[in-house]
Amino acid sequence: MSKEIRVRFAPSPTGHLHIGGARSALFNYLLAKNTGGTFVLRIEDTDQARNVDTATEKLMDSLKWLGLNWDESIDTEAGEYGPYRSMDRVGLYKEYIQQLLNENKAYYCYMTEEELEAEREAQKARGEMPKYSGRDRDLTEDQRAAYEAKGIQPVVRFRVTEGQTITFNDSVREEVSFESDGIGDFVIARKDGVPMYNFAVVIDDHLMKISHVIRGEEHLSNTPRQIMLFQAFGWEVPTFAHASLILNADRQKMSKRDESIIQFVEQYKDLGYMPEAIVNFLALLGWSPVGEEEIFTLEELSEQFSLDRVSKAPAVFDMDKLAWMNNQYIKNADLDTVVDLALPHLIASGVVSEELSEDRLEWTRRLIGLYQEQMQYGAEIVKLTEQFFKKDVDYTDDAREVLAEEQVPEVLTQFAKELDEVETFTVPDIKKAIKATQKATGQKGKKLFMPIRAAVSGQTHGPELGDTIELLGKAVVGARLKAAVEK
Ligand code: GLU
Repeated sequence: MSKEIRVRFAPSPTGHLHIGGARSALFNYLLAKNTGGTFVLRIEDTDQARNVDTATEKLMDSLKWLGLNWDESIDTEAGEYGPYRSMDRVGLYKEYIQQLLNENKAYYCYMTEEELEAEREAQKARGEMPKYSGRDRDLTEDQRAAYEAKGIQPVVRFRVTEGQTITFNDSVREEVSFESDGIGDFVIARKDGVPMYNFAVVIDDHLMKISHVIRGEEHLSNTPRQIMLFQAFGWEVPTFAHASLILNADRQKMSKRDESIIQFVEQYKDLGYMPEAIVNFLALLGWSPVGEEEIFTLEELSEQFSLDRVSKAPAVFDMDKLAWMNNQYIKNADLDTVVDLALPHLIASGVVSEELSEDRLEWTRRLIGLYQEQMQYGAEIVKLTEQFFKKDVDYTDDAREVLAEEQVPEVLTQFAKELDEVETFTVPDIKKAIKATQKATGQKGKKLFMPIRAAVSGQTHGPELGDTIELLGKAVVGARLKAAVEK
């Protein structure tokens, strides 16, 4: 029987959920779902200087929003694998550090920051790659005692075997090799005894029986260190899968400061993106389905996902494609969902009040519905519906051109007159008024509709004309028709 699949997403609580992290979480989640395995969420907080207070909560909120629910974490029953927060496991790590010290696979290093810095500078000056020299590798008891007497607190370093090639079979990148000589004896525990990430992660992955480590390519250079540690303990090494880098539209490696890309999941939520669209988009950043289809639910992705279709070629993060994809989801969503995405933005922009009367709410819902086809994300509603919240209208150049046509004054005057006579200012009667204008003026098609649209909305494109007119309301439409004739 093959081994149970257990995967983990292991963020450090240093900030919001980044799209790169979200993709790693997603791939882990999908492999777990695809194989009936277990998805663990582990909080790696041993780098205490970088921890941010509310980050864990926010990370968890974002993952839940995306629908990436975990089977085991700090909020579930700890069972045999917990606790799931590294700082709650420090006692455990210390035992394993002691084991390596006892076996002489690790040692205390008393070098100060200044000494290390001087060493690095000297190496650079000689044109060498900076790497820990190994000064304290083989201290005698007396030497150690002398440092201790001076009150110098040591770190613990792992003794890297020289001349070794570390090779592993990455599920995405196939065979990957590193030379141990390029890796100096690295620190596994800080002065206060708290382990470094590279150590804690190995202990945790082993004790939590993690079968597959799926993470971003930026962690690739950590992997040989981790493998050396697994081997030092005589433990089985998990399967590694390093998903490719994410590039921006200029095909540059995306940096955290790259403003061409919205980088955090929470920002997408705030802008009125749908979690389903984000998940769909992130899945295609490196994984490719069989066939041409591009739209997948989380469930469909879970059914189809496999690591062998994850590519090592860098993935380009195309914001336009994401907006397109989100629009696909918005178009197919029910109105309540779209209203939830868009309404907060109308309220925030001040054009709609937070406490809406029933009529006004209904009007706002219809207005949002009118733009459902077109809207790429919720925040766009403000710009799209601008013309509904002011008296006068700004004409686009195209609209001006239309309004300069010869037949326009007659069409608009007639239409205004017909509108004055309608029984109710609703779509059916508005349509009748348009028909009557057609009859009276002999104008039809573009010559009829375009001037009306341009006059009432300032634009030559837009949603259903009848609905637009009804929602603008009689007074505004009347005034705009008059203004367009007088222009
Ligand atoms: N805590 C690491 C990070 O936030 C996790 C890396 C890993 O998945 O091993 O990047």
